[in-house]
Amino acid sequence: MLLCHGGEPLLEFEEIQDLVLAYKHFTPDRLFITLQTNLSLLDQPKLDFIQEHRIGICISVDGHTSELNKLRMTGARSDPYQLLRNKIRDLQGLRTDRLGLLMTVGKHNVNELTDSLLAFQDDGFISVSFSFMQNSGSDEYRASPEELVASLVSVTRAIAEKKINSLACMTLIQWVMRIVHGQSGFVCLGSPCGAGHSVAAVLADGDIGPCDSVYSNDFFHGDVDQYLRGLESDPHLMALRERNIRNLHPCSACDIRPYCNGTCPGSAVLEHGSEGIQSVDSHQCAFQYGLIRELLWILCEPGTGLQLFRYCKRHMREKKKHAY
Ligand code: SF4
Repeated sequence: MLLCHGGEPLLEFEEIQDLVLAYKHFTPDRLFITLQTNLSLLDQPKLDFIQEHRIGICISVDGHTSELNKLRMTGARSDPYQLLRNKIRDLQGLRTDRLGLLMTVGKHNVNELTDSLLAFQDDGFISVSFSFMQNSGSDEYRASPEELVASLVSVTRAIAEKKINSLACMTLIQWVMRIVHGQSGFVCLGSPCGAGHSVAAVLADGDIGPCDSVYSNDFFHGDVDQYLRGLESDPHLMALRERNIRNLHPCSACDIRPYCNGTCPGSAVLEHGSEGIQSVDSHQCAFQYGLIRELLWILCEPGTGLQLFRYCKRHMREKKKHAY
């Protein structure tokens, strides 16, 4: 899978077209390309190209109202959810059931998460993923672990009550699959995670590193050959690749270790620096501990657990068909 994101990839659409055409001999089964976009620059010719070459589209929104999207509305930028609805109205072939949504969850929208998901579902969307704000500056935008757990438990209850049904909440589904089966297929939830193994990131300047969530230059190299050599010889990259809940502190003594990924290494680096790659992000650790515990309890509830699991299984099957 190749995910183009930024910034805004549609700013460089000609370059993306060249790339797609150069690799079009690969079927979507071999190479599936997705654009992470706010759609503002999408027009009919671009959409026609995207559809002809079966490129996936994932849209960044933070909710169903302008208030929830306020962090994306800096300057004269319009509400991305309204923009999305207008594009669906105006462009031929842009359909809610062929788009994925990506919500960044922070203080500004954590308490309205379930309401937003219900609104997305009412509008016909079928897939949403969450990313949780990482701490690259002051803490004022990041939701607390308790707020995040409460919010995701509310979403889980809405699923168990069949209020959320046709909409796949992929992040939650992947966590449930990870807990039930010990693996989810989602690169972030393994331990070690995909960074430096099955994932690589190419930055706009050509630098190559293990993942776009690892923000330190210490893990990036100037070209492919240097990077590949670095995987075997660069101390930072080697420490990243060896990162595992079995030897991380405090994971090795944690009672929910079998269900956890030991937090994102990129977030751990944000908190502890590059030399702290073998540690965990304390905020994410508290969130994941709370979430996994709650999900374990819910999965054990008669009826409720089975309903949640069936929802997850069904959407994992659908995901294979739609590749969202
Ligand atoms: S909850 Fe925290 S300590 Fe426990 S396994 Fe996960 S990251 Fe490690």
